[in-house]
This record gives sequence, structure tokens and C-alpha cells, in this order.
Amino acid sequence: MSAETPLVLVLNAGSSSLKYQLLEPDSARVTAEGLVERIGEPVSVINHEQGGAETVEELHLPDHRAAIAKAMELFAAHGTDLTRTPLCAVGHRVVHGGRSLYAPTLIDQHVIDEIERIAPLAPLHNPPNLVGIEAAQALLPNVPGVAVFDTGFFHGLPDVSARYAIDRKLSDDYALRRYGFHGTSHDYVSHRAAEFLGRDYDATNQIVAHLGNGASMSAIAAGRPVDTSMGLTPLEGLVMGTRGGDIDPGLLFHLKRVVGMSVDDIDHLLNKRSGLKGLCGENDFRTVTEMIAAGDAAAQEAYDIYIHRLRGYFGAYLVELEQTDIITFTAGVGENAASVRADSLARMSRFGIEIDEQRNAVRSREPRVISTDASRTTVLVVPTNEELEIARQAKALVTS
Ligand code: AMP
Repeated sequence: MSAETPLVLVLNAGSSSLKYQLLEPDSARVTAEGLVERIGEPVSVINHEQGGAETVEELHLPDHRAAIAKAMELFAAHGTDLTRTPLCAVGHRVVHGGRSLYAPTLIDQHVIDEIERIAPLAPLHNPPNLVGIEAAQALLPNVPGVAVFDTGFFHGLPDVSARYAIDRKLSDDYALRRYGFHGTSHDYVSHRAAEFLGRDYDATNQIVAHLGNGASMSAIAAGRPVDTSMGLTPLEGLVMGTRGGDIDPGLLFHLKRVVGMSVDDIDHLLNKRSGLKGLCGENDFRTVTEMIAAGDAAAQEAYDIYIHRLRGYFGAYLVELEQTDIITFTAGVGENAASVRADSLARMSRFGIEIDEQRNAVRSREPRVISTDASRTTVLVVPTNEELEIARQAKALVTS
């Protein structure tokens, strides 16, 4: 394949999902896209859109390998044989790059081994990312694969936010530090926010709240990420769908010594049975919202804790940045849940932040302002587009 050919196939494998897109990075024109959800559950769902037609199928997809095979089948059913499509790269979202991998990287065996070595730091994500890499190599052996790391955007975090206050030698020997995640989204959204407002990226201070099933916040000072809520692993920080975010580490010793849980039990608890799911039994924000409307007290409390944590991080980052030009909400909850935006920034007019109720109620897939004209900080909703960012970075690497 020639490096000039424009299309990129992007594979974004989450813990139980797979998003994929075939797109042209410069124009952002999407030829085909799809989403597979509930991989590994009794009934999985695949939604594939191509050429104005949408296919939705419910079937059992036991693992990511099966999900990718099904996606390829649907490409073929819509007349696209990927092995004959001019592709300049396959771009892969890879969640954890550790200390050594952060810039977009051409995938070879050494890179695969390194992603595998780092997998214990992102056990829900790096293994499915590797399945995607292997599947693409098998299907498209002559197309360069590019890994784009979720941790990459935060690689240069200052030590004051990246270092844990633990024994220095231990953390240096084992590369124990705060890496940050969702970097591709924070990168894309913060640039899009500055562009949308006609501001110079390198002269704006921004806070981005990426609120999806996973959730993280970042503080960006004059175009440079200076803090983020996720740490060594994607467990730290905000309350999420199935992860609880910040806890007292003493809780872990208590769970082991007093409750008698194994390390694997605790890992499962913190990754799968915490956050909204742990608090009220559901991790999907839409379901939690319906439960609240039906008077469910546990769902209401889960929501209140979710908001309380968000407000704490907003407070910390507003102080850290001293002056904040833009706050942006993104991802499934951030783009859609108006109440979360309103409640997490309520009663902050003394800090120069005022949400406009009517603007906040608008539903759209376009970037939009939701603050009042008087608000010193401009508050935005900007739909994220990790796939486009991955495609751009992958193409830039193979054509450089
Ligand atoms: P993401 O990880 O970005 O795909 O976001 C997934 C989360 O966004 C899930 O918790 C969804 O319930 C939530 N979400 C998606 N659409 C809506 C909506 N219309 N209102 C509230 N939450 C939503």
C-alpha cells in the first residue's frame, strides 16, 4: 500500500465493546463505522453503518476476536473487501503505554511484547487492544499498524501531579506514577474547543471533563496538560460506571485482612462492582436516571456522590489553573446528561462560572456554548471523536 493513500481503519477496543471506523482523516469523511456492545455477554449487539444503510444484529459474540470477525463480515456484506481497500494505516487505540510508549508508534513484535508486559496496569483494556492488533495483522498484513496511546497526551505531566508521595526509589524503580488516560479524547476535545471559540490553544487554560462509562478530568495550562484525575491505572479519580475512583488505600488492607478478600477479589470489586454499579446496581447512566425518576433512593445517592466528586475535581483544577478560560464536557454522559453539567457547576458564579439553563438543555451533535454571556469561564459541550484523532495521528506517522 502506498503511504499516500488516504483511508485509515481505526479499531477502538474497550473492555466489553469495540468501536471501529473506516475514514479519511483530512476530511473526516467516514465511509463506514460500527459499534459492538456487550461482548462476552449472552446477547451482544452490533450496529454497522455504511453508505446510508444501518444494520443492527443481536447475536452472541464471546470475545473481541469474534466481534472483529463479525465486523469484517458486515464490511463485506456492504460491498467493502478491506483486503482490497486502499488503506494507509490501521490505527489502534491502546490504553496503557507505560513509561516507554507514548507517541504514536508503528507496531512491530517489540511493541506488541511491551503492550503485553504493561497489561497488568490496564487489565480490562490492553488485552482487547492486543486482540485488535493481532486480528488486523492477520487480515491486513501489508498495512502498517499504528498504536495511539491513551496515556500519550499526559506524558509530560509535571512531577508535582504525576508523582505519588511514596518512597521515591520504589516508584522510580517500578515506574509507579500517574499516567492519565482518555488522552486522545482530552487532546481532541481541548483543541476542538479552542478552535470552536477562535482562541489560541497555547494561550488558553482549560478543564476537560470526559464523562463516559469511564470518566476523567484534565487541567490544561496554556496548552500543556498539567493534571488529570486518573493515575497509574484507570481506577483513580472520578466516580465511573463500574469503577469508584478515589478511595482511601487503607480500605484495601481492610478488605484483605478483615473481610478476607483476595487481591483478585479486590481487583474485581474495584474494576467491576464499584462506581454507579456498586452503589445502585446499574452502570448505564440512562438507567440510573430512570431509576431516580422512579424514586429509587440508592440511584439518587449514587448520582449525588457522582456529582460531589466532580465538584471536588472542578474546585481543585480551578485553583490549580488560577484562571480558567474554557470548561468542556464530553463523552456519553457529558454530552447528553444536562443535569450532570448543571449540577456539577451549580452555585459557582462567585468563581466566574454560570450555566445558561436554556443553552444547556439544547441537544445537538455539534460543539456548543452552555454558559451565560456573563460567565467569565466559557462552558462548552464538545462531542469527542477519538477515532478521528487516532486516524489523524496514525496517518501523520506513516506519511511523515
Ligand atoms: P461512553 O463511554 O462515552 O460511550 O458513554 C457511555 C455512557 O454515556 C453510559 O453510561 C450511557 O448511559 C451514557 N449516555 C449515553 N447517552 C445518554 C443520554 N442520552 N443521557 C444520559 N446518559 C447517556
